[in-house]
Amino acid sequence: MTTEKGSISIHTENIFPIIKKFLYSDNEIFLRELVSNAVDAVQKIKRLGALGQFNGEVGQPLVEVKLDEKAKTITISDNGLGMTAEEIKKYINQVAFSGASEFVEKFKDAKDANEIIGKFGLGFYSAFMVADLVEINTLSYQDGAEPAKWTCDGSTEFEISEGTRTTRGTDIILHINAESEEFLSEHKLQEILDKYAKFLPVPIKFGTKTDSVEDGVDEEGKAKYTSVEVDNIVNTTNPIWTKAPADLSDADYLDFYKQLYPFSDDPLFWIHLNVDYPFNLTGVLYFPKLKEDFDMQRNKIKLFSRQVFITDEVKDIVPEFLMLLHGVIDSPDIPLNVSRSFLQADGNVKKINNYITKKVADKLNELFKADRKSFEEKWGDIGLFVKYGMISEEKFYEKAKDFALLTNTKKEAFTLEEYKEKVSAAQTDKNGNVVYLYATDLDKQDGFIQAAEKKGYDVLVMDSAIDNHFVSSMEQKLEKTSWKRVDASVANQLIEKDEKLESVLSEEQSTTVKGIFEKAITKPGYTVEVVGLNPDDAPVTITMDEFMRRMKDMAKMGGGMSFYGNMPDSYKVAINGNHKLVSKILAAGEEEQSKFAKQAVDLALLSQGMLTGAELTAFVSRSVELI
Ligand code: ADP
Ligand code: MG
Repeated sequence: MTTEKGSISIHTENIFPIIKKFLYSDNEIFLRELVSNAVDAVQKIKRLGALGQFNGEVGQPLVEVKLDEKAKTITISDNGLGMTAEEIKKYINQVAFSGASEFVEKFKDAKDANEIIGKFGLGFYSAFMVADLVEINTLSYQDGAEPAKWTCDGSTEFEISEGTRTTRGTDIILHINAESEEFLSEHKLQEILDKYAKFLPVPIKFGTKTDSVEDGVDEEGKAKYTSVEVDNIVNTTNPIWTKAPADLSDADYLDFYKQLYPFSDDPLFWIHLNVDYPFNLTGVLYFPKLKEDFDMQRNKIKLFSRQVFITDEVKDIVPEFLMLLHGVIDSPDIPLNVSRSFLQADGNVKKINNYITKKVADKLNELFKADRKSFEEKWGDIGLFVKYGMISEEKFYEKAKDFALLTNTKKEAFTLEEYKEKVSAAQTDKNGNVVYLYATDLDKQDGFIQAAEKKGYDVLVMDSAIDNHFVSSMEQKLEKTSWKRVDASVANQLIEKDEKLESVLSEEQSTTVKGIFEKAITKPGYTVEVVGLNPDDAPVTITMDEFMRRMKDMAKMGGGMSFYGNMPDSYKVAINGNHKLVSKILAAGEEEQSKFAKQAVDLALLSQGMLTGAELTAFVSRSVELI
């Protein structure tokens, strides 16, 4: 074979300096690209063997990554199908560009290396991000093939000559450039292999050539590798998502979880994904135990393409409300060098997203039906996902409405249907709406909860981060229901009925009482009202209207309600005309009237955690005085 020189068919002066310059931050992916090319080559020879198109010995498939610190080379070798000189010209030299101008034009706006490599089929050329000389030394499986060697120094000039390989397969030898010497480290390469190659389907062996004398030289006079045959295989070739669920035990799923997230608690449960139409996808998704800090738990799903790790940014593939799930998704329909813009534009991605939503809903439904008690126990963790999903995805809501749970202050759990049934008799108002009462803070709202329960009402607990939104959303979705926080009015007025509240006070006495309290309350924003409640209800109750409170809550959360956020708080002060204390105040002298009224209002504020600072101090000294 004669040495041949030529030009790589890229109609631009030199793209490699551009590659290096633009892609510096992402340059570790060169190893992913070259190792996955090697894996492809090994799998291709296996397939040719299986199809009877190759009659030689396929042998044990193997890919090796070798680091030679002293020679400053990284070599990626495989015993795959190899290439003939003709094939090198075809697959390596004729880079699929439609033209230099298009390349440079698109390159300009590219945000990451993946985007460029994906768009231009540049997997192999990512080698030039870290190397200033690349060699291919290869021998094809084809009958009578001669070994071939290709060298390129990063210009558009290449050289093909006779190669030295005596066995079928390919070596890619990278002469690492001065700026990329960080990759000449065993630790660094191990780290990159752990990230991208951990679950590749072909054994990946990692060996380091050391400089130490005691290793000596081999028969050919070359320094030896300190390769350990078994324990430097960096990957698991059959990760669980490639297996059938029937062949796996709970322990297998838990072990895999521990392998992915070594320091996490066990997950609550998992879903094995497996679909081959209309797109191909496998994977295992885990529901983790939720931690306080959600942000720490995001982006824990790993995306693979044929067992090659791609990214843990799965934003477009996994619905937003499931971003806290953990696990892996593998889809050959997603190209290796996937970019954000690809994901957003790809039709399959939306389908994958819908599929995952459906699978998660089905799994939850199955758990609910199979073992309601255990489902209820896990609700604290899964409720957040479910509620978020119900709010944000109509399709999910349609399924989840049958298993979503509401829990009350007695820790009893109900489905939406069951709850409606439970409370409609006592809690239907005069307009025929069923009023759902809820508490967001069991301690602060205890007085109100007790008052409502004394009236025979049931109170739901809505104290998680998402409940605010969940309540508004449910109010719109469920027909003829309205939701009221338990401290939105006094117990008698929480559910508007036709019956009149009778007060023992005459109209004149009511006006007097109202005046006494209005004088006693010096803060702005409080409106006094005298009402007839049960004699053993609280003498004074301070409430904020449901609508006003919700608007303020939303403004606080940045929901664009700044108009309400800026409004001063306004409260209703309900005086229980039937309470003994009110009669006592009426009968007292003027000075005492004011003191008692102040005291009663402060007690109400205190019981709701609203009495603080100077007001609290004044209350304490007034109390001492009264004793
Ligand atoms: P892609 O992998 O997307 O086809 P690459 O630029 O990574 O693009 O590789 C170009 C082509 O070069 C491959 O399709 C394959 O034909 C050939 N090739 C690369 N590496 C090897 C290898 N180790 N063994 C055999 N062929 C290879
Ligand atoms: Mg490739």
